[in-house]
Amino acid sequence: MPAVCRRALAAIAMCALFTSLGCSPVLPTPRSDVEKTDVPRPAPRWGIVIHGGAGVLDRASLSPEREAETRAVLTASLEAGHGILAKGGSSLDAVTAAIRILEDSPLFNAGKGAVFTHDGTNELDAALMNGHTREAGAVAGLRHVRNPIALARAVMEKSPHVMMIGEGAERFAEQEGLALVPESYFYTEERWQALQRALAAEKKAPPPPQQGKPQSFWESPAGRDSKFGTVGAVALDQAGHLAAGTSTGGMTNKRFGRVGDSPIIGAGTYADEGCAVSATGHGEYFIRYTVARDVCARVEYSGMGLGAAADRVVMDILVKAGGEGGIIAMDAQGNVAMPFNSKGMYRGTMGADGIASVAIFRDP
Ligand code: ASP
Repeated sequence: MPAVCRRALAAIAMCALFTSLGCSPVLPTPRSDVEKTDVPRPAPRWGIVIHGGAGVLDRASLSPEREAETRAVLTASLEAGHGILAKGGSSLDAVTAAIRILEDSPLFNAGKGAVFTHDGTNELDAALMNGHTREAGAVAGLRHVRNPIALARAVMEKSPHVMMIGEGAERFAEQEGLALVPESYFYTEERWQALQRALAAEKKAPPPPQQGKPQSFWESPAGRDSKFGTVGAVALDQAGHLAAGTSTGGMTNKRFGRVGDSPIIGAGTYADEGCAVSATGHGEYFIRYTVARDVCARVEYSGMGLGAAADRVVMDILVKAGGEGGIIAMDAQGNVAMPFNSKGMYRGTMGADGIASVAIFRDP
């Protein structure tokens, strides 16, 4: 009798014994599988991917000086995250550090550079998710918290909750000793003028489009001034754990306490053990199509590669629905996807080789 059959018969006998004891035995693994699992797997390709928002970005709309400044901040953000990963730090720390740098820059629609609401205020949203533990923290409607991503992290680590909003969230920030700033901190002339243009355009424009009606949002009066700027990061650390985070001021001229997809776990931000996503774009669509989770679910359930899953959601499903924007995504092998269906998306990657790669437009 071949050895493999003898091993199987012995296992069946053991099985009967274990079952009578109430345990669940496992048949010995066939030799060939043992050999396969003994082969050392390649180390995951750790690294970080960031975005600084998607929208109507073409070379004509960006001066060389502004482009250079923007690339420098994106590079600094990548370096901050990469520095943590290179020392064996966690993907969660890397994502938080990278986003903080983008929040502190007036160039992006998050933190310091947040866009204005219809009422002339700034209301900030953010979320962070640890793919390894599935812990998550999210905040929305903040008006005084300098770094919303830090508060999202505090919600995740220091409270029993996942999401906090408005005044309550800010009381929690105070309790946790996070930096609070006067509303004037968020004032930038550029964002203020963008609101004025949106208000003027709105007076002349037909009523705003309704849910589910495909439209070129970024070409609409409200959208033209919401071109870009939400920030996000995903990272894979040397332990093979993923994390994702997103921070935003939302959309210019937003009203009535509107909250977009960025702080909604599964819509604009999501991470599990196999996949991490941060999104940017017209939030209402990203919420209704649960974009971030849909990409990761396709990777998990259908065996689709990350790139194919990301493309299907962003370049097909969202395009058909009329939802403009893009995502950054990583899987547990370190594969990266950065599809966008808008004209451009600020984005960058940095892997174990320490080479920062930053891009804005569709062509390199
Ligand atoms: N997704 C953000 C929101 O809808 C906006 C953006 O990404 O530009 O709030």
